[in-house]
Amino acid sequence: MAVKTETYEFQAETKQLLDIVIHSLYTDKEIFLRELISNASDALDRLRFEAVKKPELLDPEEELEIRLDPDSDSRTLTISDNGVGMSRKEVIDNLGTIAKSGTRDVIAKMKRAKNSEQAAQLIGQFGVGFYSAFMVADQVEVETRRFDQKTGTRWVSQADGTYTVETAQREQRGTSITLHLKPADSDEGLEDFSQSFLLERLVKRYSDFVAYPIKMRQRREVREKDEEGKPKEAGKTEIVYEDKTLNSMKPLWARPADEVKEEEYNEFYKHIAHDWEDPLARMTFRAEGVREYQSLLYIPSRAPFDLFFPDADYGLQLFARRVNIMDACRELLPRYLRFLKGVVDSSDFPLNISRQRLQNDRHVLQIRRWLTRKVLDELGKMRREKEETYLKFYKQFGAILKEGVGQDPDNRKRLLPLLMFESSNDPEKLTTFDGYMERMKEGQKAIYYLQGESRAIVENSPHLESFRDKGIEVLFLTEPVDELLVQQLTDVKDKPLKSAAKGELDLAEEEEKDEEAKKQEEEERSSFADLTKFLQEKLEDKVREVRLSKRLTESPACLVGGEHDPSPHFQRLMEKAQMASPGIKPILELNPKHPVITSLKDRLSKDKEDPVLTDYADLLLGYGLLSQGSELPDPARFNKLLADLMAKGL
Ligand code: ADP
Ligand code: MG
Repeated sequence: MAVKTETYEFQAETKQLLDIVIHSLYTDKEIFLRELISNASDALDRLRFEAVKKPELLDPEEELEIRLDPDSDSRTLTISDNGVGMSRKEVIDNLGTIAKSGTRDVIAKMKRAKNSEQAAQLIGQFGVGFYSAFMVADQVEVETRRFDQKTGTRWVSQADGTYTVETAQREQRGTSITLHLKPADSDEGLEDFSQSFLLERLVKRYSDFVAYPIKMRQRREVREKDEEGKPKEAGKTEIVYEDKTLNSMKPLWARPADEVKEEEYNEFYKHIAHDWEDPLARMTFRAEGVREYQSLLYIPSRAPFDLFFPDADYGLQLFARRVNIMDACRELLPRYLRFLKGVVDSSDFPLNISRQRLQNDRHVLQIRRWLTRKVLDELGKMRREKEETYLKFYKQFGAILKEGVGQDPDNRKRLLPLLMFESSNDPEKLTTFDGYMERMKEGQKAIYYLQGESRAIVENSPHLESFRDKGIEVLFLTEPVDELLVQQLTDVKDKPLKSAAKGELDLAEEEEKDEEAKKQEEEERSSFADLTKFLQEKLEDKVREVRLSKRLTESPACLVGGEHDPSPHFQRLMEKAQMASPGIKPILELNPKHPVITSLKDRLSKDKEDPVLTDYADLLLGYGLLSQGSELPDPARFNKLLADLMAKGL
């Protein structure tokens, strides 16, 4: 029967990615080996997971292994495994397309990258795995057979935009990838990857910890021996071939920490995290006692693009006595620590535990509680002792940490000192709650914050005027997650957390108020009663109340929310996400000391029908909306009023 070969085109994104990979964005071409070994090791893991359901899949005689077969005459290198293998459809899906969401974005960014270093960083975020083979080979052949199928599949590509697929006979389950190596060129970082001594070195360097033997057939000359087993002086030499295992297979966490090189830790991270960049930090924990567990965790250098996608995968690898029993085990971490990568090894799990069982397993819960505390303590230590690293971490993952305040109230004591905010105290430096509290004014009753899209918008808000005047610090909350944070967190160390833009604010309360002052306030309020009532009626559809303000010193007016309203910033986010906006009306506050407001009061007392009053009602509302970053209900009318005013002013 003739074999039918079909030719396919790579998906457009894949083609672009391949182009970028081939045109040498990465100088370290040798890492292709790490990537292919890592895939082989994943395939063996997956076979073992399958065998949990069907133990007959594994023949006790047969070792799960990875093989390297270099051939320097034909200049090829074959990397094989006897893992799960792929069906024809899987070959096309896995090797012809990039399924990960967000691919398009990353590729677009990569094309805009200024230099190859920047592109390499982007690709690091994304990882090209299998395609890295094309950095060193001009033709790649994949022969594979899925563990539960009879026929195999051959996939061949020269990375010219197409690949071919045909049916292939293959004795053994698993996958072999044959690289037709490009000519060696040391300027390009292309060494002769068909040399076994080089492969041996690369395996040691990048893949020593891989849990399956990585074997290579080696040629050895053996001299004929005499009766005592000693090589004969003039004996014949015989050539023997034997397998050599190139890696130690020892998991890093099982080795004494001072024997493991930093580079080995980093390579292990890249293997499990599918990352190309070194991690930012590493943590190792060990619990001994009734139950024993160990954990080796890493913080990546960069947040993945899907960190805030609700369905993005996360979790740690779970090992039972050094055997990987689950890949992305979510149960081992709370959601707000999902940025961590790493492994947990415990002696207490059966090798065939199912995901469902894990979900309600008391032991897993226990590990999770232990791990969470350890991680938070470690982060606390990093903040105190390695500020620079902590700030790097915080820039990438701070927002996600804030989710923890709501998700994990039990650990608030550990979490709160980790949170950092922009603040009116310093144009650049972030502050913690503790830092803020140290700077609080004597007798200050609350921690104040202001929410908005960006520091620039918040900083120029009229809501800050009296705070600036009195020298009271305000935290600037500019991330979407901050809305959740302030809903969940009502106070810190007995100090209430208060929005500078919500509720009735009276900073004078921070000082003691005497009777005289109170009387004056009351008089002021009644003298403006007509104006507030008038504006209230005029703006009935837009605001729920008009009142005098104590937070303004320079601006004539501002909008504020009720004590428990979501911030205008949050309401805008909801609208953008096309979620029902709660439609909460704000409160308009007037500055009784401002000439515009006092003049309006006078105009009103002279003539209630004065058309200027209606115009000013709309102007004041527009002023308030713009200063909090909101859109105007009728921009055309606002502009016309403004133009009229401008004409008068000249
Ligand atoms: P990743 O490993 O991050 O998923 P790769 O580009 O390295 O991405 O590999 C793409 C996919 O191809 C893998 O997810 C896997 O499904 C499949 N694959 C690659 N190599 C093998 C292999 N040796 N055995 C089985 N499947 C493989
Ligand atoms: Mg891979």
